[in-house]
Amino acid sequence: MWSLWGGPGGSMAAKTCAKFGLDTVLVEREEYPNKPNSLGCLVDRRLCEYIKIDERFVDSVIRLIKVSSSDGTEIQMQEPKIGEISYVLNRKTFDREILKIALKEGTEYLNRTRAIGLIKEDGVIKEVKAKIEEREDLEIRSNIVIGADGVESKVGKWADLYKKSDISIDNMWGAS
Ligand SMILES: Cc1cc2nc3c(=O)[nH]c(=O)nc-3n(C[C@H](O)[C@H](O)[C@H](O)COP(=O)(O)OP(=O)(O)OC[C@H]3O[C@@H](n4cnc5c(N)ncnc54)[C@H](O)[C@@H]3O)c2cc1C
Repeated sequence: MWSLWGGPGGSMAAKTCAKFGLDTVLVEREEYPNKPNSLGCLVDRRLCEYIKIDERFVDSVIRLIKVSSSDGTEIQMQEPKIGEISYVLNRKTFDREILKIALKEGTEYLNRTRAIGLIKEDGVIKEVKAKIEEREDLEIRSNIVIGADGVESKVGKWADLYKKSDISIDNMWGAS
């Protein structure tokens, strides 16, 4: 019945739910989706084989990548062929435009509203507890909750989907 959290993942989920006729609420703790965790977002050129990048979101194009470590080691990525470039997207513009698409489909947007917990009934999630502007309590009944609250998702933990230790950087990158 509704979606939660307002980064690009949350906005896209909300857009899809609203488009298929579900009453959809998108909850975002900030004014707008995202104090972006990074101002720019690298989009690898291989992704561009599948999607077309909207030029409005492009901050810069990358033709060459050089990585330097503190011990002086430098790695230079092979210069891509012409036409094979990667992009840096402007996250602020990108996130706001995606939010607009979600709103256009009929999503209700609650900004400055922070989710603080889930309420279960007979082991099933039925309600989200939130705080509006850190003052007013809000409880939203919902049959479906989508936790799109970023890489260290609290929703996932509240829902017992994983423990914090499951999402360490080592695990993310597949290190032993
Ligand atoms: C330093 C850094 C650099 C990165 N660089 C890249 C890159 O170059 N290219 C790339 O593809 N990816 C990059 N990423 C990954 C990138 O963050 C994700 O691709 C993208 O942001 C994921 O979008 P999302 O919507 O899932 O989550 P997020 O963008 O994290 O959005 C989560 C949203 O939920 C909101 N929120 C969180 N908790 C609550 C709560 N309790 N109540 C209400 N709202 C809440 C936040 O305010 C935020 O708006 C990077 C990540 C980091 C940390």
